[in-house]
Amino acid sequence: MNYELFDVIVIGSGIGGLVTATQLAAKGAKVLILERYLIPGGSAGYFQSQGYTFDVGASMIFGFGKKGTTNLLTRALEAVNVNLETIPDPVQIHYHLPNGLDLKVEQNYEKFLQNLINYFPHEAKGIRSFYNECQKVFNCLNNIELLSLEEPRYVVRVFFQNPLACLGLAKYLPQNVGDVARRYIKDPLLLKFIDIECYCWSVVPAEMTPMINAGMVFSDRHYGGVNYPQGGVGKIAQKLAEGLEKAGGQIQYQARVTKILTEQGQAIGVQLASGQVYHGKRIVSNATRWDTFEKLLPSARMPSNEKIWQQRYKKSPSFLSLHIGVKASILQANTECHHILLEDWQNMELAEGTIFVSIPTLLDPDLAPTGYHIIHAFTPAWIADWQGLTPTEYEQKKEQAAGRIIQRLEKIFPGLDAGLDYLEVGTPLTHRRFLGRTDGSYGPIPQRKLRGLLGMPFNRTAIPNLYCVGDSTFPGQGLNAVAFSGFACAHRIAVDLGL
Ligand SMILES: Cc1cc2nc3c(=O)[nH]c(=O)nc-3n(C[C@H](O)[C@H](O)[C@H](O)COP(=O)(O)OP(=O)(O)OC[C@H]3O[C@@H](n4cnc5c(N)ncnc54)[C@H](O)[C@@H]3O)c2cc1C
Repeated sequence: MNYELFDVIVIGSGIGGLVTATQLAAKGAKVLILERYLIPGGSAGYFQSQGYTFDVGASMIFGFGKKGTTNLLTRALEAVNVNLETIPDPVQIHYHLPNGLDLKVEQNYEKFLQNLINYFPHEAKGIRSFYNECQKVFNCLNNIELLSLEEPRYVVRVFFQNPLACLGLAKYLPQNVGDVARRYIKDPLLLKFIDIECYCWSVVPAEMTPMINAGMVFSDRHYGGVNYPQGGVGKIAQKLAEGLEKAGGQIQYQARVTKILTEQGQAIGVQLASGQVYHGKRIVSNATRWDTFEKLLPSARMPSNEKIWQQRYKKSPSFLSLHIGVKASILQANTECHHILLEDWQNMELAEGTIFVSIPTLLDPDLAPTGYHIIHAFTPAWIADWQGLTPTEYEQKKEQAAGRIIQRLEKIFPGLDAGLDYLEVGTPLTHRRFLGRTDGSYGPIPQRKLRGLLGMPFNRTAIPNLYCVGDSTFPGQGLNAVAFSGFACAHRIAVDLGL
C-alpha cells in the first residue's frame, strides 16, 4: 500500500462528528475529519458581522452539567483536555402562548411545577405525576454509562451493574410522550401545553415524541440545567477541534466529500470535490442519512434498511431565521434568554407558526457591541416555498417574511422594529447551503406515530465499515443527543478496531 491509511475518516465536523473523532483520537486512533465549510460545528456553528457573533442554530444547550452521566458535552471536552466556561441560564423557556398562558420554565423543578399548577390547579396531581415519570426515565439514563447499544458486552455489563435502570429504559424505549401524558392529564389545554413542550425541540407534538428524549429534556433542565458557552455556541466545536488536534487527530476545512468509496461492497475511503482521495479502515458520515445514502453513495443501490427508514421518517421543515442586532434599551429588565411565541394552537406545526427566540447576549454580553443585544428568532419554513424565485422575488419574500415576524415579536418586545441595528435573514436555502443538509432540514421526524425510539437506527450501517453519526441516528436532534450518538459511534468503532 503506498497511500496514507487513516484508522477513521469522519465526513463532517458537526458535534456528532467531532465527538466521534475526539473520542477515537483520545484512544490513540489515527483520525481525519473532512469538513466542507470554513469552520467546524455545522448547526452548532456561528457567524460574525458588524461586531455581532451569531449562533447559526442551537443556543439552548443541555449536556454541560457537572454530575451524572448525561452531561455529555462536559465529558466530550474533558476527554481531550479542553475546557470551556459556561454560563447557567436560570430559565429554560419563557412561553407566550394562546389562552393567556404566559409561563416560565425555571431551573428549579418545584418552582416550574408551581408555575404550571397555578394555571391548572385542578390538574395538580396529574402534572406532578407526568413530570415525575419523565424524571424516572432521566434517572435511569443518568445512572448508566451512555455508550453503544450495538456493543453486546457493554449492554450485558451495564445491565448487571444497574438492572433496574436498564429495565426502566427498555420499558420507555417504545413509548411516546402523548400516551404517558394522557394517563395523568385530562385538560385539553394542558395537553396542548405538553405538545408545545415537545414540539419546541422535537418539532412534532407529544403523540409522536419519544419518551426517552422527553425524559432527558424535561428533567435535565432542572438537574444539569441549560448552560450557555462563554463566547457563543461556536466555541463548543472550536474547542473540540482544538482537542482533536491536541490528541493527534487532523481536521481539514473546505474539504467537501462527494463520494464514499467502496470495494467489494465495503467502505474503504472518500473522494473530495477536488478529486483528492483518502483511505480509511472505517468511514463515518456526519452528513444526514439522506445526504449519505442519496448523494455520497449511489441512491440506486440504497440498502433496504435505509429504504425502510425513509418510509418511517421524513424530513422536518427547515427554518426561516432572523439574526437581529437591537438596541439594548428595548428589552425590559428580567427578560429571559429563550422564548416561544404562539398565538393560535392551530398554527403550532405550520410554517411561520411557532416562533423560537434566543437572546444570548443576556448571558454573554460580549457577543454584541456595547449597548446592543442579539435576538435570534426562527420559525419553521419549507424549502419548496423558497425555490424557483428570481433574485428580486427572493429578496422581497425575505423582507416580507421578516416584517411579519418582527411585527409578531413586537408583542413581547415592544419597540423592536424601531430599535433595529442589524438584520440578516436566513431561509431554508441558506440552511441547505451553509449547513450542508438536504432541504435545510432540522432532521428526521416520524412519518406517522412510531413506537418511541425503536425505529431510530444506531451507528452501524448495512455497508461494512461505514457508520453514521449525528441527528439521523439514535437518539435524534439536539447537541447533547448528537454527542450521545458520537460517544456510541466511537465506542462501536473502537471495539471493531480493537482499540
Ligand atoms: C435553527 C436551529 C436551532 C436549533 N436549536 C437548538 C438548541 O437550542 N439546542 C440544541 O441542542 N439543538 C438545537 N438545534 C439542533 C442541533 O443544532 C442539531 O441537532 C445538531 O447540531 C446536529 O449535529 P450533527 O452532528 O448531526 O450535524 P450537523 O450540525 O448537521 O453537522 C454536519 C457537518 O457535516 C458537514 N458536511 C455535510 N456534508 C459534508 C460533506 N459531503 N463533506 C464534508 N462535510 C460535510 C457540514 O458542513 C456540517 O459541518 C437547532 C438547530 C437549528 C437548525
